Amino acid sequence: MEGGATGKKVVVVGGGVAGAFLAKSMQFVADVTLIDPKEYFEIPWASLRSMVEPSFSERTLIKHTDYFTNGRVVTSPAINITEKEVLTAEGRSVLYDYLVIATGHVDSTPQSRKDRIAQYEQDNQKIKASNSVLIIGGGPTGVELAGEIAVDYPEKKITVVHKGSRLLEFIGQKASDKTMDWLTSRKVEVLLNQTINLDSVSESEKIYTTSTGENISADCHFICVGKPIGSSWLQESILKDCLNKKGSLMVDENLRVRGKKNIFAIGDITDVPEIKQGFLAQKHASVVVKNLKLLIKGAKESKLSKYKPASAMAIVSLGRKEGVAQLPFMTMIGCIPGIIKSKDLFVGKTRKQLGLDPGTA
Ligand SMILES: Cc1cc2nc3c(=O)[nH]c(=O)nc-3n(C[C@H](O)[C@H](O)[C@H](O)COP(=O)(O)OP(=O)(O)OC[C@H]3O[C@@H](n4cnc5c(N)ncnc54)[C@H](O)[C@@H]3O)c2cc1C
Repeated sequence: MEGGATGKKVVVVGGGVAGAFLAKSMQFVADVTLIDPKEYFEIPWASLRSMVEPSFSERTLIKHTDYFTNGRVVTSPAINITEKEVLTAEGRSVLYDYLVIATGHVDSTPQSRKDRIAQYEQDNQKIKASNSVLIIGGGPTGVELAGEIAVDYPEKKITVVHKGSRLLEFIGQKASDKTMDWLTSRKVEVLLNQTINLDSVSESEKIYTTSTGENISADCHFICVGKPIGSSWLQESILKDCLNKKGSLMVDENLRVRGKKNIFAIGDITDVPEIKQGFLAQKHASVVVKNLKLLIKGAKESKLSKYKPASAMAIVSLGRKEGVAQLPFMTMIGCIPGIIKSKDLFVGKTRKQLGLDPGTA
């Protein structure tokens, strides 16, 4: 039904993992508007594969209108909210009965899907044309990129510079150690406890000097230092007092922003004490979908669904066949995590969850 069955206005800000799943799930229940600066949803954990195989992005970049067919998409960043509306950079005011904030991490990727694919082509050309590659950052993005290049282009010299004392600090020490062994066995050089001044890097300079004075020679570089939480746009809004020191939105057990009856937050932007993961962002979305349906039906507050933070679990891919897994009681490296994640990077699965053909763009 056009505009949803109930006519209640649900506005979702942020079309990443959490927001896309929520908008899709609510589209036949309410009058849903999705606000996102991009015209597409990108499967984030598949993005590094597209840098070594640009055609992979045909399946991982999905226009919002492909899975969200019964709602409105506003392609513009939200810049503020009031008690009843969301304001966007292009000057719109979007009224809401219920608001869901899902702006995860700051994203500076192009607005159009076509331009994003072109960006992957350029990244790939850059890798192909270089004999040596510098990766700045040894978190999940830097490690996965190093793995992709090391496996697909084993002849390239790769250096990873990481400011922390170990790789992948978001998971356990054993996983870091195993990842370090895997990378060094593929001749990737890893420099820990060092930084590169990002203000001074340029592709024309082939020599990069680290904070300890070490010189690295590389034909190109990629910055993989992690992105800030996407909440700066809320700093002068009615939710400014609901942000903690890190910039996360503080939520209650029903995933409502603390003290707000009709405003929810889901995904990486929340202060839920757990590793920030897309599969958990999807779980947040499911809880909020249940709660929105209950509230729209007029159910009692006491009936609302509660979210329980998850224990630590993550898989970081290492090229196409291997990976490193942090499970609640152990870590594992090699083919088993590789079989689970690294071949298709959950792309078919995610597309299916969005109601799309898993195999084609
Ligand atoms: C390399 C890498 C590998 C990963 N691997 C996995 C994995 O294997 N499994 C897993 O579960 N998780 C994985 N993750 C984590 C996962 O990607 C995140 O937890 C997930 O993307 C969080 O989803 P989100 O919707 O909260 O935020 P995001 O995905 O960051 O989406 C935020 C959205 O909000 C939009 N936005 C931002 N600001 C505004 C604004 N002002 N107005 C409107 N829209 C705005 C953005 O454009 C974006 O669309 C990985 C992450 C990385 C970097």
